[in-house]
Amino acid sequence: MNSSLELVTTRVSLPKMMLRGLVKRCAWCGGRRAFFVGFFKKSERCQTCGLNWQRNLEGFELGSSTMGVFITFGSILAWMVISVVAGVPLVPLLVVAAVLAIGIPVLTYPLTYTVWFGVHLFMNNPTPDELADAAAWRESRSQEGLEA
Ligand SMILES: [Zn+2]
Repeated sequence: MNSSLELVTTRVSLPKMMLRGLVKRCAWCGGRRAFFVGFFKKSERCQTCGLNWQRNLEGFELGSSTMGVFITFGSILAWMVISVVAGVPLVPLLVVAAVLAIGIPVLTYPLTYTVWFGVHLFMNNPTPDELADAAAWRESRSQEGLEA
């Protein structure tokens, strides 16, 4: 087994895991294209370490969705405060707020997953079973690579 297939068993700090998530990397291993094989197309496993983002726990998507809601509402609220202070007329204020309401969730969709994965890993360390499952996935993938 070469070093890239070694089992990642040590956890990095929460800020580092969240920073990795902000650049769409896996919070656990730092691998690129962690779970997103396209902008909206999500793979069930990190393409580097093999951890499954669903983690056999309920409520993962609720956390990432909540993070998206807070970012969206926060940006709309910030825009409304700025535009009221600056005296922006009502129609442009509402048009920009509508663009933010549609655009922010679309742009932040992958990031809410990868950042929340870091928060989730911080709260719940991967179990030995999850790490073994990830190792088995990496092993099967490397076998496929050797056969192809
Ligand atoms: Zn990973």
